[in-house]
Formats: sequence, structure tokens, C-alpha cells
Amino acid sequence: MKFGTKAIHAGVEPDPSTGAIMTPIYQTSTYVQRSPGDHKGYEYSRTHNPTRTQLQNALAALENGKHGLCFASGMAAVDAIMKLLKPGDEVISTNDLYGGSYRIFTKIFQNYGIKFHFTNMQDTANVEKLVNENTKMIWVETPTNPLLNIIDIKAYGKLCKKHNLLLVADNTFATPYLQTPLDMGADMVMHSLTKYMGGHSDVVMGAVVVNSDDLRERLAFIQNSCGATPGPQDCFLVLRGLKTLHLRMERHCQNGRQVAEFLKNHPKVNKVYWPGFAEHPNHEVAQKQMRDFGGMVSFELKGNNVDDAIRVLENLRLFALAESLGGVESLCGHPATMTHASIPREDRMKAGLSDTLIRLSVGVEDAEDLISDLEQAIG
Ligand SMILES: *Cc1c(COP(=O)(O)O)cnc(C)c1O
Repeated sequence: MKFGTKAIHAGVEPDPSTGAIMTPIYQTSTYVQRSPGDHKGYEYSRTHNPTRTQLQNALAALENGKHGLCFASGMAAVDAIMKLLKPGDEVISTNDLYGGSYRIFTKIFQNYGIKFHFTNMQDTANVEKLVNENTKMIWVETPTNPLLNIIDIKAYGKLCKKHNLLLVADNTFATPYLQTPLDMGADMVMHSLTKYMGGHSDVVMGAVVVNSDDLRERLAFIQNSCGATPGPQDCFLVLRGLKTLHLRMERHCQNGRQVAEFLKNHPKVNKVYWPGFAEHPNHEVAQKQMRDFGGMVSFELKGNNVDDAIRVLENLRLFALAESLGGVESLCGHPATMTHASIPREDRMKAGLSDTLIRLSVGVEDAEDLISDLEQAIG
């Protein structure tokens, strides 16, 4: 099946009890047994819930994986993956990781004896130098936030195979419409379904997709033991969102391209970050591993005056000033004062994150309207 057909059909069956074509919201905590242990595969909704089962199957199908596991948020999915590790284990990740992942690694799991290394992962050699006998996992996120760097998943798939490490890919920004990391050597794909997968800014949820039966078993044990599972109503919302993932992503990509090109030609814009530009430092890798370049675009204004950026953000009308991304509506954000404010200014500058950097999550509205809005706001 091609991707669009899978988005609508794969992993989902009509409800066996009624034939309902849409998966019902099984709003129940428990299931009646005929005799002790004689049940229909469902005992208690932390462990299994039919609405969640369908969503997990749909996610596995979209990522070309065997098993999906859903969690109460993207961060709960990260938490479950890290609980596969033990004190003394080491993890290597990128130095421009999603802030929440950086926080849980350094402020939570570091206290439990797991060691983290952060490096520029655009260069595989940087990473291989950090591998030692305690290294257990490499964690990639691509494209990165907010500078939209691209990391070569296949290269890390090879490296992990060579050193017998687990490779995790946070696929939140790309979605399986753009790239399927399991096909490139990843052992686990992690998602914040809150973003493009849900797609309508109405739910917070996370997921992990794997091929290995052993990893599924260990993650399902953590999912059930720790209990950060999503409710059936939220599972229903994500299932509904997935059915238009391919349509939304196609438009996000088209609009992202038009917005990026408009900004590039604007006299007040200093630089535009978008992996579709031939001059983007990782454009070749992006072209190789992604179907298209996505709907995230970041740009900085000339002059590095923070007040200019704030004025633009205040003037934007269609682009709502809000955290998060990936919904049908366009959003804008200011990393220096919002998502990345906790990073000291000096470190932000070193990472190339200027005070006038604005991050756009380009929605699926009409591109002309989005461009007019940017035009009036930049002035
Ligand atoms: C939002 C996000 C997360 C965390 O997901 P939540 O659903 O907010 O808990 C993790 N990784 C990336 C790349 C994200 O954008």
C-alpha cells in the first residue's frame, strides 16, 4: 500500500462487535471475564484498551514497524525509552536536541546514573569518538529545532550496528510521511503525536514504534508498570488525525516552501533556515532521506535587535504566537524568549540561535494569505 492508503486503512479494522467503521471510544477501565482468566484479550485499560490498540497498530503500519506503543505525552514516550537503560549506561545525542528531551536526560535520568554526551551530529566522526564500552544508545532528532539541521539516520544506523547500540529517532518534525527511520536502521522511532500526527492542536500524546519483539515486550512492560498511558478519547482524536496526515503534510510542505522562498527574498531578512534550499549545509542528506522538506521554517532579521523580532511577532495575525507546532493552523514563536529561554544567551549565540530568530510552523491555510501576513508584519 502507498502511504495515503495506509494512512486511511492500515492497522484499523471495523469494530468487531457492531461493524462501526470508525474505531469506537472504549471509555472503560475494566472488562468482564466469563471465568477467572477467560477474557477477550482485555483485562484492564492501563494494560490494553481497544481504541489504543487500533491506534498503536495504525502507527506501526505508518512507520513500517511491527509494534506501536502509545504514551500519555511525547515526554512519557521518551521516559519509557530511557527506562530500558541501567545506571552506568551512556547515551550520545545531538547538541541541539528538543529542550524537553534535554531536560529529562540531564535533570532526571542523569540523577539515576545514566551519562549523556551531546555533540554536533552532522559529523559522524564526532560521535564515534564518544563511543566506549558503556555506550548503549544513540538518540537522533532530525530535522532539529529550531535551526532545522538534518542528521543522517542511515549513517547512525550503520554506526549502531557496528558497535551494537540502540538507535532511537525522534521523528516528530518529519513524520513517517517524510521519512521512516526504521527503514534506515533505527531500532525505535519516537513521536510526540501532539504535533503533526494528531495535527489539530487538540491532544497531547506520544508513541514509540519498534520492529523487535523483545523491545516491544520490554517497552510494554514499562508502559503497563509505570502507567503513563493515554485515554481512549485522545486515542480516537489521533486516529482521526492520522487519516489526513498525507494531505496535511503535502500542504505543509508546499506552504513551507513558498514561505521560505518569500522570506529569502525579503530585504529585512538576514537568513532563512529551511532544509529545502540547495545552500542548506545538510541539503544533500535531506534530499536523500526525506520525501520533501516539511512545514517548519525559521528565519532571522537583519540587525540582531530583539525588539524588531518582538514587533514582527506582535504584528502577525494569522500566525498565532504560541508554543507547539504541526497543527493545521500556522504558529510562530521566538526561541530566545520562549522555547529556548532557559539556555544562557552566550550558549544560544554559540549554537547559532540569534535574538531575532523566529520559528514558523507553517499551517495548511492558503499560502498567499500567510505570505501577506508575513509581509505586513515584517513591514
Ligand atoms: C513536542 C516534542 C516532544 C515532546 O512531546 P510532548 O507531546 O510535548 O510531551 C519531543 N520531541 C519533539 C521534537 C517535540 O517537538
